[in-house]
Amino acid sequence: MTDREHSLRTRLVQRSRPAAGQRRVVNPPIMRASTVLYENVAALRATRTERAERQRTFSYGTHGTPTTFALEDMIADLEGGYRTRVSGSGMAAIAFGLMPFVKPGEHFLITESAYEPVRKFVKAFLEPWGVICEVYKADGSDIVGRFRSNTKLVYAEVPGSGAFEMLDLPALARETKKRGITLAVDNTWGSGILYQPLKLGADVSMLAATKHIVGHSDVLLGAVTTTKEAWAPVHDMHDAFGICISGDDAYLALRGVRTMAVRLPVHEATTMQICKWASQRPEVAAVLWPAWPSHPGHEIWKRDFKGACGLFSLEFKAPQAKVDRFIDSLKCFQIGASWGGYESLVNLTNIPGTRVVTDWSKHGPIVRFHAGLEDPVDLIADLEQAMKHLV
Ligand SMILES: *Cc1c(COP(=O)(O)O)cnc(C)c1O
Repeated sequence: MTDREHSLRTRLVQRSRPAAGQRRVVNPPIMRASTVLYENVAALRATRTERAERQRTFSYGTHGTPTTFALEDMIADLEGGYRTRVSGSGMAAIAFGLMPFVKPGEHFLITESAYEPVRKFVKAFLEPWGVICEVYKADGSDIVGRFRSNTKLVYAEVPGSGAFEMLDLPALARETKKRGITLAVDNTWGSGILYQPLKLGADVSMLAATKHIVGHSDVLLGAVTTTKEAWAPVHDMHDAFGICISGDDAYLALRGVRTMAVRLPVHEATTMQICKWASQRPEVAAVLWPAWPSHPGHEIWKRDFKGACGLFSLEFKAPQAKVDRFIDSLKCFQIGASWGGYESLVNLTNIPGTRVVTDWSKHGPIVRFHAGLEDPVDLIADLEQAMKHLV
């Protein structure tokens, strides 16, 4: 490379676009394809050879198209990884990112703070398949004692879903590397801009592109990105299951990712204002957000993250019935799953039900919020008017 390497923010705008040298539009065109046509038999044979060698060829729709390749390249760059495979949802990405690295009879460690449906995947598939699954503490403090001679895979999520517990990933990666264990991480909260697990020693990073990358709550999409060493099994597993996405979805995700680096600081600044305000309120027992100074693990966040997003939780002192009325009376924060879009959302959590190692039973109701791109003044006023239901 002759030019100096551009910053990630610049690369998100400039890369994965149609090549120079012809009259062209700004965005990569949408390619909808199952069949790809060949000029002659020699071209068909050459493509098959190329597919085996490069593990990427525009040869048939399930193997991807120029539109999906453009998105994969963008996400690989965002994650600081070697290569990426995309799939139809964040949950699918997690499943296809984990399966290549553990087999029946082997031991798998999963954090108690994982996105809850991942535990369903464990119960519905991994365990019946014969994998020995064990849950470890969200902060990772008990993990070394749980390693067995047949432990093959550790799954982390940083920060944890709902309560945003922090974990020292570089320290965990040192332990897994020593033992030849694969370390996989759900990176949806940090999404590359804020956090790059592969640069901190993880082998596999999955994310729900549905959230920050798409950014507009209109596409479901997942991505698995790996180091060079972990790439082949992930690629082969995606091919084995015929995992692919539509050109339309890839196009929308590429459009979303262009503005991601400028959206996230707005989500962060708004959330900081809300947390400052909430921490002063007598109805609030705790602010759960890694960028908040009293949050457990805040120091790890400062060391390992480049910023924070708009997903946070508040613990309330009032009982759940009053908290339900508080949620019902919110107007800017609409009730709904998912997050990372431009709009503010609120959702229930199940922290005591999912944290099977750490005791959360003494805590009050915990509500998860996503601070969108609305004016923080309006968001705080909305929370304030609803708080009358908490007394
Ligand atoms: C939403 C989410 C997922 C799953 O993404 P989908 O695209 O909804 O399947 C996985 N992990 C985390 C942390 C999430 O918030």
